[in-house]
Amino acid sequence: QNAVDASVSGNRIRLDGVRKTFNEGSVVACDDVNIEIDEGEFVVLVGPSGCGKTTTLRCIAGLEEPDRGSITVDGEDITGLKSKDRNLAFVFQSIALFPHMSVRKNIRFGLDMNTDLSSEEKRRRVEDVAETLGLSEALDRKPSALSGGQQQRVSLGRAMVMEPAAFLLDEPFSALDANLRDHMRVEVKKIQRELHTAMIFVTHDQEEAMTLGDKIVVMNNGYVQQIGTPYEIYNEPANRFVAGFIGSPSPNLVECTVERTADGIALASDFYTIPATETQAERLESLVGETVIYGIRPEYLDLQIDRGAFVADLDVVEPLGDRDAVHLSAGGTDLSAVTPQGEIARDTDRVHVDIQTEEAWL
Ligand code: ATP
Repeated sequence: QNAVDASVSGNRIRLDGVRKTFNEGSVVACDDVNIEIDEGEFVVLVGPSGCGKTTTLRCIAGLEEPDRGSITVDGEDITGLKSKDRNLAFVFQSIALFPHMSVRKNIRFGLDMNTDLSSEEKRRRVEDVAETLGLSEALDRKPSALSGGQQQRVSLGRAMVMEPAAFLLDEPFSALDANLRDHMRVEVKKIQRELHTAMIFVTHDQEEAMTLGDKIVVMNNGYVQQIGTPYEIYNEPANRFVAGFIGSPSPNLVECTVERTADGIALASDFYTIPATETQAERLESLVGETVIYGIRPEYLDLQIDRGAFVADLDVVEPLGDRDAVHLSAGGTDLSAVTPQGEIARDTDRVHVDIQTEEAWL
């Protein structure tokens, strides 16, 4: 469905070469940002604190003016337009409802600024949105009589009544406790599917990005590192930063020297010489003697008590629920593995490790 709609209407929002600096150019908040957001697409901007994701979102919203580059909505260049003329709705980190107004008035607030709509139309929109958000019963209450999740829904409703071309959300759940946050993620995802309106969502939380995004934009130091679906980002990270940032526990990134052995090509680390697969060997042929980083996710290390390719000391077993994260050290290198719950006893001292070498990145 998404693909069909996107091909009909094309990209709703496009950023081309967006750059924004502060302090007379000495702080580059974001640079060379190119993102396409399709009709109905849920796009998440994710990266560590200070990577430029909020600045990028604020440029789209018209709250910052880019130094360079352009932003278009449905093919129309909006780079110079004022925020209020952009038909984009911004939902902020803090909920910021008016405490003395009813939920109805809070939701209606933005609409009341608009003199083109009849009061009948405004009433209809507020009631439709309240119904979608499960707030119909709460319309005449004050925000203080609502739970945190309901308050967050009211602030979403305020954006929804504007029927914008896209929603821009900046860490909207960061003030909520963990359970409520999980719940709100599902709610927002459901609402977005129903409305089929583009959403651009900023978070520093890679897990939140993975659960919400149809498309994930990973940023670091002001630059986009990779754009892809959650599976693409997880399975085929474009670089070391993305590999390390996405997924928990973090992948094992081991420095190795490429060697030629009697059996072909291998990667010598401090603790074990890892045989290269045929495909890897082809790529490594011209790199004999050089150093490469060998990346392998924890779930692709297999642990056994009595046999395996190499031996490691077991430091800590960390229960994750259905799985355990097992932290190891081998020849001075820290490694992580993920095993089914309880498979490795917590008081084990040493384990044997096998690597599912076909799953490795170079
Ligand atoms: P966070 O998650 O902490 O909000 P972020 O990834 O959203 O971080 P930005 O807020 O976009 O990052 O900031 C990017 C860089 O630009 C940072 O180094 C920040 O200090 C700087 N910056 C942002 N806004 C301003 C401003 N108004 N004046 C000066 N520097 C700024």
